[in-house]
Amino acid sequence: MKREMFRCACCGRCLPRDPRVKNQDYCGQKKCQQARKNQWQRRKLETDPDYRAGKKESQQIWQSKNKDYWKRYRKNNLASVLRNRQLQKVRDQQRLKPDSQDKQAHTDLVKKDALIAYLNDNSILYTVHPAAVDLAKKDALMTKMNAITTR
Ligand SMILES: [Zn+2]
Repeated sequence: MKREMFRCACCGRCLPRDPRVKNQDYCGQKKCQQARKNQWQRRKLETDPDYRAGKKESQQIWQSKNKDYWKRYRKNNLASVLRNRQLQKVRDQQRLKPDSQDKQAHTDLVKKDALIAYLNDNSILYTVHPAAVDLAKKDALMTKMNAITTR
């Protein structure tokens, strides 16, 4: 019996289908299985609000139990710290260029969802002023800012 072939969505190899795997899109290589898992998780986060909320909650619990994680990480991974410091300088300079758009201002940050969560917080009210005006001005325009994700 000739087995049906499929092309792996990750490595692109053409392989015989495993009859035990329904709708097989990935081969069994470790990197391809990791890609499949990442794809599933990305899709799940986009489409399942309960999964998203559960993940956020478990991350917050983990963060509260590991408050010094990044401090220890930076202490133990000096090369990464120095590399990131250099790359951040480049990102900062890119941001200051006159042709860089505001929507790109936060796209290079490591923790993108922090800014989005902050901007989506309805309890925060922003005022918009012309650049060089007295901040105590009472008739400033009141507005709500919404984060726009670029996916
Ligand atoms: Zn593969």
